[in-house]
Amino acid sequence: IMGCYSWSKQACYSPLPHDLLKSHQLTIRTTPNSNMKILAILYQGGNAAKEEPRLLGTVENELGLREWLTSLGHEFIVSDDKEGPDSVFEKNIVDAEVLITTPFHPGYLTADLINKAKNLKICITAGVGSDHVDLNAARSRAISVLEVTGSNVVSVAEHVVMSILLLVRNFVPAHEMIERGDWQVSDIARNAFDLEGKVVGTIGAGRIGYRVLQRLVPFNVKELLYYDYNPLPEQAAKDINVRRVEKLEDFVSQCDVVTVNCPLHEGTRGLVNADLLKHFKKGAWLVNTARGAICDKDAVAAALKSGQLSGYSGDVWNVQPAPKDHVWRTMKNPLGGGNGMVPHYSGTTLDAQARYAAGTKEILENYFNGAPQTPANIIVDGGKYVTGSYGQR
Ligand code: NAD
Repeated sequence: IMGCYSWSKQACYSPLPHDLLKSHQLTIRTTPNSNMKILAILYQGGNAAKEEPRLLGTVENELGLREWLTSLGHEFIVSDDKEGPDSVFEKNIVDAEVLITTPFHPGYLTADLINKAKNLKICITAGVGSDHVDLNAARSRAISVLEVTGSNVVSVAEHVVMSILLLVRNFVPAHEMIERGDWQVSDIARNAFDLEGKVVGTIGAGRIGYRVLQRLVPFNVKELLYYDYNPLPEQAAKDINVRRVEKLEDFVSQCDVVTVNCPLHEGTRGLVNADLLKHFKKGAWLVNTARGAICDKDAVAAALKSGQLSGYSGDVWNVQPAPKDHVWRTMKNPLGGGNGMVPHYSGTTLDAQARYAAGTKEILENYFNGAPQTPANIIVDGGKYVTGSYGQR
């Protein structure tokens, strides 16, 4: 396990993580049957999914798995209906052996549901981030939890860079002004800056965090920083000239821009709260594409309203889909800007969907054949955390 952990740190700055992933294997226990019940909770794709077959992560296109799974004699149930005891999710989880779900429209597998899911052996995240599963409950039932590690890390890193730029340059209000038919340059320019010369730091310097930093090198920022209990390999840090800060308060107090790129777990839920926000530089920008619940919803909205934050941007919400009245949809800074929120899509570009659909199939194939799984894909197995990314254990 330690071996594959240190390997995964190496892979986090490799240009070809997927190729590297293939070469290391670890066995996970399986008891493959034929005629399994496989339940997938995916998002509704509507007309878009009918017109665009590459929208693989939708209920309509079923990750491209139906023909294959039914030809093997398995029962494949696919739905977006996931809330409440009468939902397709809760009704079918009781006897499903395999659960597939995406972080974009997660079936929240609580400890209570895990208790009821008597046949469940493996949960597969079609994407990256398995916090929708109560991982400690999965551990205690020895349910394996795997994800398609690396499948969308470039997609997210690009979105983070875009989000940083749109906040720092005050892009959204400028575009809204144009749509309204107005033209008042000073109203936008009074809160627009260059990224050059700013200090940018990531909470979490894994696959995504590191890629964000890498992509910022050509912007000539003043300094790149990271906060992570797992230090980067020396050479990886040297390559991009990034400095580690060990205390979170010290870290945020030095950053003009903070980007959140760690998983959601007990140690990161509500990590960016009212107390921590007081340590941010006045007027800092915050980008979170990791998980909504890492940032306290109301504390962020209050910090933006007061100007303690100049901007908040991201695609992840504490509940998904986000309710219509979620404060993050409409919150603004005192100048009426600073909101770059979008629905959860940074990691579900068409390129990413092809990768996580293929990765899901590979995990299923290994499971059916009792073959070893790629270690970097394993979050929990055999009652243990195999990953080193979900907190210090
Ligand atoms: P990764 O495992 O490669 O890296 C995560 C890093 O976070 C690790 O280095 C880990 O040590 C660090 N970390 C964990 N807890 C921490 C803490 N308390 N403080 C500081 N650092 C901590 O994972 P990744 O591929 O970079 O993905 C990170 C997360 O991004 C995922 O878990 C997921 O929640 C999110 N994500 C979002 C999208 C999206 O579409 N918005 C897509 C993919 C992943």
